[in-house]
Amino acid sequence: MNEKERAERLQKLQTRLEFYRDLGVEFLVSPRKPAVRREDSAAGAPLLIAGGYSGGPDLDVREEWERLIRKIMACQACPLFKGRTQAVPGEGNRQARLMFVGEAPGRDEDLQGRPFVGRAGQLLTRIIQAMGFSREEVYIANVIKCRPPENRTPRPDEVKACSPYLLRQVELIRPEVIVALGKVATDFLLQSSKSMSELRGNFGEFQGIPVMPTFHPSYLVRNEGNKEIKKMVWEDMKKVLQLLKS
Ligand code: SF4
Repeated sequence: MNEKERAERLQKLQTRLEFYRDLGVEFLVSPRKPAVRREDSAAGAPLLIAGGYSGGPDLDVREEWERLIRKIMACQACPLFKGRTQAVPGEGNRQARLMFVGEAPGRDEDLQGRPFVGRAGQLLTRIIQAMGFSREEVYIANVIKCRPPENRTPRPDEVKACSPYLLRQVELIRPEVIVALGKVATDFLLQSSKSMSELRGNFGEFQGIPVMPTFHPSYLVRNEGNKEIKKMVWEDMKKVLQLLKS
């Protein structure tokens, strides 16, 4: 490694540590339990495909996943299909204990076909890492699978048309905890009209699965200097970790 590369690496490390300090992370957490459920890992299944989708232990389940992804990629059930480069189904570990659900793909996600890869996505990745997981160990998806024009908030009819896909993903993954990122995901999962400030930090429930609502990473990006918001998000994630460890 030459001098320039070393300096760049140090700069990246410093940025990351500053972010963790702002979050209020006192230490980097290592989850006590494996990131996948014991009964699934015991099946000897292929667990991870970086940047793609991991297979399940059961052929039927794997086929169902493939059918679901194909259906999403070809979907024209709402007008959003007209403006997309490609649909963004979601990615990660199909046997994950922890699932993150956001709102909809943005420009970077629409171009790459992967969820949370822009600035907000990089921030989410750091939060996941601070929790002791890698991106490939959790599952990341959005309520809406195609990018709304100019990243506007999805309309209720679009949420209604698209939400069966997320519902099926949740049914197939059966995560132990879901983190709802922002208002659209929280409204859909908790069916509540309360504000994010009222809801965040307290577990709700979706299909019997605990749901922790917290601020969307893009809100953190927009309020970059606001350490209080970062700390609130980290407090929420600590509760999630506590539940996963219990
Ligand atoms: S947003 Fe969802 S419902 Fe609308 S076209 Fe895309 S995949 Fe289909």
